[in-house]
Amino acid sequence: MPEQSNDYRVVVFGSGSVGKTSLVLRFVKGTFRETYTPTVEDNYRQMLNCDNSICTLQVTDTAGSHHFPAMQRLSITRGHAFLLVYSITSRQSFEDLRHIYEQIREVKENSIEGTPVVLVGNKCDELDRVVSAKAGAEVAKMWGCGFIETSAKTNCNVKEMFQKLLSLEKKQTLTINDEATDSKKKTFSRTERMKRSCVIY
Ligand code: GDP
Ligand code: MG
Repeated sequence: MPEQSNDYRVVVFGSGSVGKTSLVLRFVKGTFRETYTPTVEDNYRQMLNCDNSICTLQVTDTAGSHHFPAMQRLSITRGHAFLLVYSITSRQSFEDLRHIYEQIREVKENSIEGTPVVLVGNKCDELDRVVSAKAGAEVAKMWGCGFIETSAKTNCNVKEMFQKLLSLEKKQTLTINDEATDSKKKTFSRTERMKRSCVIY
């Protein structure tokens, strides 16, 4: 996909199988799949309201942390904002994010204060939690970034995750263009029921 200069570029990082692709597909297409297909790198586009006009949100869904370091650096350099995703069922995936956060700090150097970052604890529908919401919130506080728990499966806090990230952008006012997103989504009553039962804290 060719890149456009007025794109607002969001990059999604995190270890394999934490649900990065699922969160992106839930947001962009309103779908969810139980099966796991490893990602190399995919880009998605969505409309955004930007300072009273329309611009494009480009979401880059990455492979995960360690396998493609050169691609990772390039994604950081080109990215405006970052979602750092772990699974609340995997402490390793939580710990893996420290390395990527440090790399974002290193690459962004002086502009880190103005770089929106949200730490995302996904799979909050799962019962075998090993990372508490408190632990996630504490790390986010230490890093000076946002924090949210989500479920791509039950569609809990997925849109809110993007809203939180965009709200951290100080240079321009960015909001999700609902006309563009809602028309693509189908709502299933089962999903709605599960969504309501997704307790976060
Ligand atoms: P990625 O490697 O980070 O892109 O992970 P995927 O999005 O491919 O998801 C990995 C696996 O976790 C798949 O089997 C998904 O169905 C599952 N998964 C993703 N998000 C959730 C979630 O919120 N809850 C649950 N229970 N499973 C999820
Ligand atoms: Mg993936």
